[in-house]
Amino acid sequence: MIKFLDLNAQYNSIKTEVDKAMADVIAESAFIGGKYVKEFEASFAEFVGAKYCVGVGNGTDALEIALEAANLPKGSEVLVPGNSFIASSEAVTRCGLKVKFIDVDNDCYTISAQTIEQHLNDKTSAIIAVHLYGHPCDMGPIMELAEQRNLIVIEDCAQAHGAEYNGHRIGSIGHYATFSFYPGKNLGAYGDGGAITTMDEERAVQCRKIANHGRIAKYDHEFEGRNSRLDGLQAAVLSVKLQYLERWTERRIEIADKYLAELEGIDGLILPKRQSFARQVYHLFVVRTEQRDALKAHLTDQGIQSGIHYPISLAKLDAYAYLGQQNDETFYNATDSTLLSLPIGEHLTDDEIGKVVTAVRAFFDKV
Ligand SMILES: *Cc1c(COP(=O)(O)O)cnc(C)c1O
Repeated sequence: MIKFLDLNAQYNSIKTEVDKAMADVIAESAFIGGKYVKEFEASFAEFVGAKYCVGVGNGTDALEIALEAANLPKGSEVLVPGNSFIASSEAVTRCGLKVKFIDVDNDCYTISAQTIEQHLNDKTSAIIAVHLYGHPCDMGPIMELAEQRNLIVIEDCAQAHGAEYNGHRIGSIGHYATFSFYPGKNLGAYGDGGAITTMDEERAVQCRKIANHGRIAKYDHEFEGRNSRLDGLQAAVLSVKLQYLERWTERRIEIADKYLAELEGIDGLILPKRQSFARQVYHLFVVRTEQRDALKAHLTDQGIQSGIHYPISLAKLDAYAYLGQQNDETFYNATDSTLLSLPIGEHLTDDEIGKVVTAVRAFFDKV
């Protein structure tokens, strides 16, 4: 079986260190807050190249807390890509703001300043720039436009730990950036976890207060916040894994390069593009074909797992029927039913990648 994700193999490769890190947290009862969380926040801020990092409960909370901290006018509109995980839009609604989905491009599956500009109006207050599949959005023009129109930009980096835009790590470009450490992400905890990074001290402090009952000091609550914390066990695991992230990312890129070279020139198969400004970290390697379902079945037959991200675009979900954007033809790329994610990750050997290539080629030789 060629696995899409193999957390067990990853754990076995770092077991001694992870077990020790967890045992230390338990021995010191450093469960909530404390030195392991502080250490991880500092090293993750450094990794991202951001000045501040606030650990929170998960990536969805990170988005919600950033949006709340931004203090946007109630009922104002936030632009969200039509193809993403629902967290990207859920957070908007939960903050009393209005979701407006916009299309993604069909090269890298991210939103562009051009598309954003087409959907701006007087009510637009913010943009959720999702670096989908690990490919960064073209942030330069987006930040320029945001400055002109006085918009807040939140980078949703849940799939893009370590990605770069023109040599700068993503997570330090927008006003706020949010990360998820869900186990299956490129940097994953052993449970839920998330973080907000920013270059602005005031924004960082406000996020920290919101995530911790509206306070910095123990019983000095300035306002009602909530409870959303990265815990000590997760932070300790993440600190261990952060040391391996670059190695794992390099392996992802190596595998992607193999796929790109060896699957090139197949009629009916469209490979993902990588813009010159991008260090794409390949959370997912997504190809397109009109025979998507047949290819997926063929791979399953060959013992190869694959995925679909996402089977239903956000605008078409029942949850968003009320927006009336379901039949909107401007969602051409975001509602693509031809997307298929091939297995990628440091758990895969060259031999296994070779088998995936052979299976994909064999499929197209037949059709
Ligand atoms: C996973 C994900 C999230 C949510 O993260 P959780 O930690 O699961 O809450 C948000 N946005 C995107 C694009 C994601 O892939």
